[in-house]
Amino acid sequence: MIETDILIIGAGPTGLFTVFEAGLLKLKCHIIDALPQPGGQLAELYPKKPIFDIPGYPEVLAGDLVTNLMEQIKQFEPGFTLGETANTIERQEDGTFIVITKEGTQHKAKAIAIAGGLGTFEPRKPLLKDIEFYEKEDRGVDYFVKDPEKYRGKNIVIAGGGDSALDWSIFLSNVANSVTLVHRRNEFRGALDSVEKVQELKSAEKIKLITPAEVVGFKGSERIESLDVEINGARMNVECDYFIPLFGLTPKLGPIANWGLEIEKNAIKVNNALDYQTNIDGIYAIGDVNTYPGKLKLILCGFHEATLMCQSVYNRLNPGKRYVLKYTTVSGVDGFDGTRKEAEKAVVKAID
Ligand SMILES: Cc1cc2nc3c(=O)[nH]c(=O)nc-3n(C[C@H](O)[C@H](O)[C@H](O)COP(=O)(O)OP(=O)(O)OC[C@H]3O[C@@H](n4cnc5c(N)ncnc54)[C@H](O)[C@@H]3O)c2cc1C
Repeated sequence: MIETDILIIGAGPTGLFTVFEAGLLKLKCHIIDALPQPGGQLAELYPKKPIFDIPGYPEVLAGDLVTNLMEQIKQFEPGFTLGETANTIERQEDGTFIVITKEGTQHKAKAIAIAGGLGTFEPRKPLLKDIEFYEKEDRGVDYFVKDPEKYRGKNIVIAGGGDSALDWSIFLSNVANSVTLVHRRNEFRGALDSVEKVQELKSAEKIKLITPAEVVGFKGSERIESLDVEINGARMNVECDYFIPLFGLTPKLGPIANWGLEIEKNAIKVNNALDYQTNIDGIYAIGDVNTYPGKLKLILCGFHEATLMCQSVYNRLNPGKRYVLKYTTVSGVDGFDGTRKEAEKAVVKAID
């Protein structure tokens, strides 16, 4: 059982920054995310897009903001359960909570911060006969690349025409035995440098490109052995150990919707006048996942909500203890890893 002070559900920007604000108050955090990497929408939907409204950054790539947030919270040694979906929650008699993921990992925490954004991202699946059979028990269909090493020496077919399909084709061309990219159009909707790189790898015969084409069926009794691909009305058979359709993700509030929380328009109602607590004592909702009058789904609003929520958790866990707000410029930052960040001390010099 993983034990922590605040269990954060969602490793988007709001969840990540919560670790920092909690750390300043000496509260430990553990984060669960259904995706295999931290960063939420920024990492999954637009890592290479510039953001212009983060205070102090005239412009920052979404992927770089995630990298910086991870660097900022490193000192507070957060734990991560990635690639798992928080599924059930149970309140214990002592006021703590047990959260169990769909994959079975158990977590115990004194407070819960739901930073689940738009919810869990469900992959858009191609409408293919028997796909449900092949997506189970490592039979060959994967919707996420969780561990690229799994594909070492294998024959991979990726389908899709966006950034994910292009980026994973490029990456896996150095890992897999063969990479075939199938797309139903000749044009790709990805970053220009990725499209050019795929073109280069095609010329070097490191990626096989089949366009305009579609995967239309599977062959293999125990697991996938090959795929039927339709190109210009004709059919071809492509040898394949893994088929990875990357057609984008659709967000769904998911299991959180069944936790007895007050939901309004697919978002969790919170007390915004005070601390972003939900209708259940000890469960907070921050960032895109919550709703209140005047709510704005912006990254900086999530940061603000995380900060106020952490103060409330501190007061809850330390009744009667008065917290005095400290500036990091003045008090520095003491990490749980023993490191300390502080402003340079002024030179002390006697004046004659
Ligand atoms: C294309 C695009 C451009 C944008 N541009 C800007 C911009 O310029 N400026 C700006 O301020 N905002 C922008 N936004 C909005 C911004 O991305 C969101 O406000 C921000 O991501 C919200 O952060 P979050 O941490 O609350 O949620 P998210 O980033 O959505 O992260 C939530 C995480 O929770 C996880 N999760 C949910 N439920 C569960 C569960 N049950 N178990 C485990 N994990 C779970 C999800 O997998 C996800 O990773 C943009 C959004 C998009 C799509």
